[in-house]
Amino acid sequence: MKILLVGAGLSGAVIGRELAEAGHECRIIDARDHIAGNCYSERDEDTGVMVHTYGPHIFHTDDEGVWDYVNRFASFMPYQNRVKSTTQGAVYSLPVNLLTINQFFGRTMRPEEARAFIESKADTSIDDPQTFEEQALRFVGPELYQAFFKGYTEKQWGCSPTELPASILKRLPVRFNYDDNYFFHRFQGMPEHGYTAMVEAILDHPNITVELGTTYDPAMAEDADHVFWSGPLDGYFDYKLGRLGYRTLDFERFTHQGDYQGCAVMNYGDADVPYTRITEHKHFSPWESHEGSVCYREYSRAAEPGDTPYYPIRLVDEKAMLAQYVALAEETPKVTFVGRLGTYRYLDMDVTIREALDTATAFRNAEGALSSFLVSPI
Ligand code: UDP
Repeated sequence: MKILLVGAGLSGAVIGRELAEAGHECRIIDARDHIAGNCYSERDEDTGVMVHTYGPHIFHTDDEGVWDYVNRFASFMPYQNRVKSTTQGAVYSLPVNLLTINQFFGRTMRPEEARAFIESKADTSIDDPQTFEEQALRFVGPELYQAFFKGYTEKQWGCSPTELPASILKRLPVRFNYDDNYFFHRFQGMPEHGYTAMVEAILDHPNITVELGTTYDPAMAEDADHVFWSGPLDGYFDYKLGRLGYRTLDFERFTHQGDYQGCAVMNYGDADVPYTRITEHKHFSPWESHEGSVCYREYSRAAEPGDTPYYPIRLVDEKAMLAQYVALAEETPKVTFVGRLGTYRYLDMDVTIREALDTATAFRNAEGALSSFLVSPI
């Protein structure tokens, strides 16, 4: 069959590869002039540092199948994400762990003491936290919430944590030991030669053609037996019901000789510091050594037409509009919507790859008659 895949990011590349291996003819287009979507990475010419052009991407998963899959296409180097946060005039360890708690409160508590101490701070009247703020007040108490989560989250999402769902905070653990690994997944690492090289290897198949700098035109679909759309869901319908809200990021790039901050990611918890974090890219490749350094100050704001969409907002208004777009999509034959933008969900890379693999399997099993969504976006 002739397959058209719109978007050469992880979803398009993985589905394309799987279907190419099954003998289908895959044409992958992307409006950008590069592959790999937002996990695109590129070596800076002056310093030699591998830069995560669209912000930090750290590969972590519990899914052994996905881990095996990415290791087929890239050699992964050991990397553990250890994030710090500067707040209220001091530097602390994230995610909130025993070191953070002891330093923050000037104590020397052991795990069980710290657990009881934090529980004494928690608002136990909150039975079933719905919002980000309720989740924080229930599980970390007001002081830690104020220092680490409130200001950061206001900057990141541009709204009050009382309006955000608890699920956003649930991404972050609180630990009553000294484990400062940001992720708790079994497998974690960085592709030795960057994500772009990994995606290039995935795309390297005789049944795949890739056309960059190519915008989708509905006429292209006439030639195809099936379309996989990994662009914005609302974009497929020319935004005719309005625009789904996204946060976009602005990166203020600067260089430095030597080591700027001593770690890859430094978050800034205070509301009066305008950026959310600074990333120093060479620390994402600890097996390399570079004298020069490339850093990004990261600012978050509402995406305007033409901006790169990053984080789907998914508040009440967006969800109502989303339901309408999903209904339209479900009436659209021969098109399957995939990935972060196609399904308007906050997806980590491993989940994106898992869903792409499952989508390809479902397509093969359905002999091409695949529905609009594999996983409901609502
Ligand atoms: N967060 C926070 N303080 C931090 C880091 C994260 O309040 O220092 C909140 C913030 O709302 C963020 C969410 O936790 O959007 C999830 O954080 P994560 O580090 O997973 O965000 P990502 O790296 O995907 O932007």
